[in-house]
Amino acid sequence: MDKIFLLLFLFLIPVIFIVFRRTRKLRRRARLSKMDFPPKWEDILGKNVPPYRKMPDGLKGQLRSHIRIFLGEKSFEGCSGQKIDDEIRVVVAAFACILLLNRKTDYYPELSSILVYPDAYWVNEEFHVGGQAIRSKAVNLGESWENGSVILSWSQIKEELADENCGQSLIIHEFAHQVDAEDGFMNGLPELGEGSNYGQWAKVFAREYEDLREGALKGNYDVIDDYGRKDPSEFFAVATEGFFLKAAEMKDRHPELYGELSRFFKVDPSQWSV
Ligand SMILES: [Zn+2]
Repeated sequence: MDKIFLLLFLFLIPVIFIVFRRTRKLRRRARLSKMDFPPKWEDILGKNVPPYRKMPDGLKGQLRSHIRIFLGEKSFEGCSGQKIDDEIRVVVAAFACILLLNRKTDYYPELSSILVYPDAYWVNEEFHVGGQAIRSKAVNLGESWENGSVILSWSQIKEELADENCGQSLIIHEFAHQVDAEDGFMNGLPELGEGSNYGQWAKVFAREYEDLREGALKGNYDVIDDYGRKDPSEFFAVATEGFFLKAAEMKDRHPELYGELSRFFKVDPSQWSV
């Protein structure tokens, strides 16, 4: 009998630990979300985050509390001399958290740090041709890793912010990759949630992806950036940028794709107005 109690106790320890950690996390998040939102941060949002200016008040409040939690949980690191200030932290958090609105979220659970470079940065690349490893250097503006980090170039972000109609956001792009990877695979198919129609999603995305590839070859303009033809995960990332930043045009030109993204992200940015 004593042995059974001992075994039961041993099995219970990890359960108690998990429940304790989860309770502590939820309490911390509740506390963070209730903290005052500094007026300076509100100014940063108003100046730099066009979707924030347009969204309804209810979503604005939700976004502010997501930003509070995000900034309380993620660390920022400046690289190559980049200083991290409130503008960088709030802008990155805001665009990252727009993707979480109205959704059940654990705030990018695998992500721990955001590395920010002042400009584009060099990376070492290795690829294989005919069994031979080829090493080279390439210039990057951003990266999204499944093992806990996102890398961003601040000058690229500033350039996008200076042109409200450019329809591109490096931050939304890299965090769309994080959303995509939450089910363990960065493949353009995120975890759609219970009761979702995976068949419909696959049908719409496959057709739109093929259309973009064909259109790009012919040099046709599309609200979805050409970069999306690279592979399905890039297609999901650029389609997400278009969905949030050029919503009306996306809905008009790609109604089915817009519908799938709207069901997934649980918002309809085409209805947001200034
Ligand atoms: Zn990408």
